[in-house]
Amino acid sequence: RGYIDRAPREDDMEFVDGGDVALRVPGGAGGPAVLVKNLYLSCDPYMRGRMRDFQGSYIPPFKPGSPIEGAGDFVSGMTGWEDYSLITKPEQLRKIQQSDIPLSYHLGLLGMPGFTAYVGFYEICSPKKGEFVFVSAASGAVGQIVGQLAKLHGCYVVGSAGTDQKVELLKEKFGFDAAFNYKEEPDLAAALKRHFPEGIDIYFENVGGPMLDAVLLNMRIHGRIAVCGMVSQHGLTAPAGIHNLFSLVSKRIEMKGFIQSDYLHLFPQFVDDITKHYREGKIAYVEDMSIGLESGPAAFVGLFSGKNVGKQVVCVSQD
Ligand code: NDP
Repeated sequence: RGYIDRAPREDDMEFVDGGDVALRVPGGAGGPAVLVKNLYLSCDPYMRGRMRDFQGSYIPPFKPGSPIEGAGDFVSGMTGWEDYSLITKPEQLRKIQQSDIPLSYHLGLLGMPGFTAYVGFYEICSPKKGEFVFVSAASGAVGQIVGQLAKLHGCYVVGSAGTDQKVELLKEKFGFDAAFNYKEEPDLAAALKRHFPEGIDIYFENVGGPMLDAVLLNMRIHGRIAVCGMVSQHGLTAPAGIHNLFSLVSKRIEMKGFIQSDYLHLFPQFVDDITKHYREGKIAYVEDMSIGLESGPAAFVGLFSGKNVGKQVVCVSQD
């Protein structure tokens, strides 16, 4: 409905009758376009940033009154949150090849979040076998893949998540060596010290705020921090203070932010590698599917209170 500077609410979004999509073709019906029936929509934290008209962002804001955009499938690409979308730049659609893998997985495991985990871990973290890896928001779309890639690489991996159910998932389903519920830890630095008595080599940062501050105190010399996202900071006009940045100097830490779309040349390699791991049973995947286009706003808003267990998708239609 309009730009916001606070946590998103369901009533920030509305359902409208979009009329005949064919009429939206530039130059009228018959122009170059592909009509896509949307089956699954992806809910991603970065979309919250597109609800602000913020100049410093890496992606343009949504237009109030227009359909929310997000990725979707048999082809995958940016479509609208609507039943049908008209795509006037068909070259931006990616054809899905792996018919044995559930369609919705192409929005997570084999889509943008999985790719984020892949480039973030291999390109930014410079991982070595035997290193100590910590992942926050670890049961989410990106975190669950990062943790499993780190295990496949021979690292020791600990994850944090916001419920005991998610902690169980990390240990039982995704094979993390250990995990903890950060909401039940009064002292995050002490919790990390308990899990990493020798310190952390690699921190895969998804949340920011007090967790980052606690991690800085627990990093090892020459550690790496891959700054993937800071979901706790998205809507804040005055981001939470970080007090321990001097650790970057004293411990010679490399802290680097990245955006997955800068690495798209690696996408085919990513799809090959992850498809192989998945088919061989070496990678598990959990998604949280809400049913019906009408469930989209609640599913999206739920990302910011941790309601989702695994990758949040919205099923618009199964056929
Ligand atoms: P998730 O599936 O992990 O969903 C978000 C999760 O974040 C929630 O389930 C919740 O888990 C946690 N969370 C929400 N609010 C807070 C908070 N205030 N403090 C701590 N944790 C919170 O999302 P994704 O895996 O899709 O995204 C993870 C991160 O990666 C995000 O920061 C996102 O912006 C970033 N990202 C970056 C990309 C890039 O190119 N750099 C691309 C894609 C994603 P819990 O219950 O555990 O708290």
